Amino acid sequence: MTEPLEYPRPQALIGGEWVTTPHTLEVETPSRGEVITRIARCQAAEVGAAVQAARQAFSGELGEWASWTARRRSEWLLGFAATIEADHERLARLECADTGKPMTQARGDITACARYFRFYGGAADKLHGETIPFENDFAVMTLREPYGVCAQIIPWNYPAQIFGRCVAAALAAGNTVVLKPAEDACLSVLRLAELAVEQGLPAGALNLVPGLGHEAGAALSAHPDIDHLSFTGSPETGTLVTQAAAEHHVPVTMELGGKSPQLVFDDADLDAALPFLVRGIIQNAGQTCSAGSRLLVQRSVADRVLERLAERFSALRCDVGEADADCGPLINARQKAKLEARLEAAARDGIRTLAQGQMAERAPAGGHFVMPRVLTDIPAGHEVLREELFGPVLAVQVFEDEAEALALANATDFGLCAGIWTRDGGRQLRLAKGIRSGQVFVNNYGAAGGIELPFGGVGRSGHGREKGFEGLRSYTRIKTVALHHG
Ligand code: NAD
Repeated sequence: MTEPLEYPRPQALIGGEWVTTPHTLEVETPSRGEVITRIARCQAAEVGAAVQAARQAFSGELGEWASWTARRRSEWLLGFAATIEADHERLARLECADTGKPMTQARGDITACARYFRFYGGAADKLHGETIPFENDFAVMTLREPYGVCAQIIPWNYPAQIFGRCVAAALAAGNTVVLKPAEDACLSVLRLAELAVEQGLPAGALNLVPGLGHEAGAALSAHPDIDHLSFTGSPETGTLVTQAAAEHHVPVTMELGGKSPQLVFDDADLDAALPFLVRGIIQNAGQTCSAGSRLLVQRSVADRVLERLAERFSALRCDVGEADADCGPLINARQKAKLEARLEAAARDGIRTLAQGQMAERAPAGGHFVMPRVLTDIPAGHEVLREELFGPVLAVQVFEDEAEALALANATDFGLCAGIWTRDGGRQLRLAKGIRSGQVFVNNYGAAGGIELPFGGVGRSGHGREKGFEGLRSYTRIKTVALHHG
């Protein structure tokens, strides 16, 4: 029998202390729609205290963080990767209960979180500036310095992974962090913070302020004493956060949404492409910024591809996260209602559901499920082609040739990812250059999560890069030192 799931400390972490807040928030499991525990609800006062603690830790007034060398930080981060791995199953169960995602995916997320700490641990002492040839009587160098206090606001869809991506990079570069996790899912993040304290992370280096977006999130993004802000979430909130940060000229990294296409040409290896077309949209029930939510297929193979897709989608089963089915629920009742309203409107506009999955037999009631599905016969420019639906819904369009495929791929304000399926090398390169997006995957989709690869968007998908070495650099700024030696 599985042991009962032990929840982490529900409090905020401020300056190395666990702080109880006057108000708390319910934590609901999306698989059953039941409240399972409660967590802290930070407001401006707690956020202010967290920023102050992060400032003091950075300046050396609190704890020993400021005295840690790059090598010391590297050792801690590498050790923390091992700590995460040792706690892997509990973290995965927390992620599964909190987000509803199938256990296999939750386990993958925790593995990815540990990999971020290992990657940035390895990179922490390899970050350096440059020397620049200038006039003969000068020596000029650039120093790569941490920003100072990094504010991080993250979403509910991949809490542990995004924690790893943001926190490991910021700490590796020598910053201190104030992180606001999402109100809809942050149990894994609370557990990770608990583990970080147990593993001796100096007080104030990492501060955690769970709470609501318009309370804790707004207070953090508007705080005058932060030095950098990294936001992952919706484009609409991204605009608010950018405006708030601009008041104090705080640099921002924006990781926002997507409406990413996968392009399938008639010379593609369909056996290789199909699993990626399905997984690209059902992963995390479609609640993934980089979801391959549009399928663009060449007319000459469209019937064949759609027939095979219909077969696969009809066989998909949805169930509670713990059951580890193909697809879990959406995060909450609000998201479910929003998506269902959009699907009803699409049906009224004549859009056809080619195929859809089903609930598994004996799945318990109460979860926020929407069946994964394929939509066809979509009028040009329709909302389902333009807006991020954030559910397991694949929108299909048919194209005649490469030029039309490129035009359709770029007919979006977003620009996060694209997948190209073709054996033609020239076409691979032309499209990789022509598609307006941060990532292009050729004959794969997602590069297996590639935490080592820079990631980010263009247009409404955001700006700045996280992940990979580029992500580490983005948590530093350059200082130029020009030394005149006569
Ligand atoms: P959201 O914008 O509603 O919330 C994201 C975070 O912002 C949460 O922590 C929330 O509490 C906070 N927030 C909300 N209002 C705020 C405010 N006024 N001021 C400051 N903070 C506020 O997004 P979501 O619904 O949680 O996440 C889904 C979105 O995130 C999707 O658009 C998805 O594509 C995007 N996303 C992007 C990436 C990426 O790397 N590009 C990764 C995951 C998710």
